[in-house]
Amino acid sequence: MSAQSAGFAESLRAAGGAKLARSAGFAKSAQSIEVLILGGGIIGLSSAWEAAKRGFRVTVLEAEEFGGQASGAAAGMLAPFSENTESPDAFFRLCADSHARYPDWVRELEELTGRSVELRGSGSLNVAFHEADFLSLRARLEWQSRYGTGFELLGASELRRLEPELSEQALGALYCPGESHVFAPKLVGALEEACRRAGVRLVAHAGRVAGLERVAGTGVAVRTAGAGSWLADRVVVCAGAWSGFVREWLPVDVPVHPIRGQICAYDGKGGRIRHMIFSSQAYWVGKKDGSLVCGASEDVAGFERSVTEQGIGRLTRWSGRAMPYLRDVSPSRGWAGLRPATLDGWPLIGSVPEAPELILACGHYRNGILLSPATAAIVGDLLQGKNDGYGNVFGIERFSPAGTTRRGLG
Ligand SMILES: Cc1cc2nc3c(=O)[nH]c(=O)nc-3n(C[C@H](O)[C@H](O)[C@H](O)COP(=O)(O)OP(=O)(O)OC[C@H]3O[C@@H](n4cnc5c(N)ncnc54)[C@H](O)[C@@H]3O)c2cc1C
Repeated sequence: MSAQSAGFAESLRAAGGAKLARSAGFAKSAQSIEVLILGGGIIGLSSAWEAAKRGFRVTVLEAEEFGGQASGAAAGMLAPFSENTESPDAFFRLCADSHARYPDWVRELEELTGRSVELRGSGSLNVAFHEADFLSLRARLEWQSRYGTGFELLGASELRRLEPELSEQALGALYCPGESHVFAPKLVGALEEACRRAGVRLVAHAGRVAGLERVAGTGVAVRTAGAGSWLADRVVVCAGAWSGFVREWLPVDVPVHPIRGQICAYDGKGGRIRHMIFSSQAYWVGKKDGSLVCGASEDVAGFERSVTEQGIGRLTRWSGRAMPYLRDVSPSRGWAGLRPATLDGWPLIGSVPEAPELILACGHYRNGILLSPATAAIVGDLLQGKNDGYGNVFGIERFSPAGTTRRGLG
């Protein structure tokens, strides 16, 4: 803990300056437990909605605007198979579980809020542009067919029947009929509304955390730069790429770092593509508003969120190569977001052993939209004192020197 923060919780309590004041304790009923969620992206909002449905008293502090970071920038693809090319490990199971939850989760969300999040079961095509690509596609077909139906390895002519706009250079594809996508900004907006209706207190523009301290018998005290100080029984860290801030205040190293994703959209060009299309260099997904979204770079640029000519240029070149009708067409717009990455690419979901009032739900890297319903369910379970159902393989313990490796448990 930094010297700066030492004792601020004590003075806060004495002065009665906290926005929430509850005595800590794990034996209390949900209705009397205050949960403070730090971060209002898709993970924070999904977790808040779930916690409120389970009866907790929930507040979300968002440093800036709800959904204004990675979650609002995402392409919205729900692709448990295309994102897991190697083996059916625990991460694949988490992705598949989350995807299976999506239809009911979205139905409930849309009924509650009256808003559409544009869930579309388009299926996906993982396209081979080189003979060598078939090797990995065949290996995937072999194991993935055990976890879903309708997978097919298509040759060039069958592929062209499904997607007539693909170039002659497309030699074939692995067809995954079950994959789907949403419009991510609309999903985040609907979740914000669902939280509001479920009684969650939503605080935007809270600024960064300026102090975080465990208080014996009281829980956790959090001081923000823009929204005063708060006391809660439990704190859930959902701060995306910024989640490493915890180490400034507690002796807990949260190994999350930003990986920039640059992405672009072609207005009016999405209607000619029927499936989500993945290649080794880029992906394309047609949205209901008629746009074709093409993503995404993966570059290390600190917390910089601007787009570069090089990043968008690479996507533009690949778009023209994969789909001749996009040759010489410039994207209508480009934007970027910061994916929250961990050292092994798996999310961090679990309680902190040194500070059990603190739950981490961050580091979702390329799959935070896909993983939000399952993550929210795990956060709800952890708040209720249950286990996560995955043997804690997503916990922070895996990064400690004595930690169990994920391979050992996966
Ligand atoms: C270009 C791009 C395309 C993507 N496409 C997909 C896709 O197709 N499918 C998919 O599943 N995933 C996709 N992703 C990944 C997905 O967007 C992320 O995994 C997900 O949005 C992470 O959600 P989050 O809530 O953890 O983070 P964020 O959305 O970044 O939210 C974190 C929030 O915390 C706030 N914050 C930061 N520090 C603090 C603090 N101290 N206190 C309070 N608040 C704080 C931030 O302001 C921010 O609003 C994509 C990402 C990018 C960049």
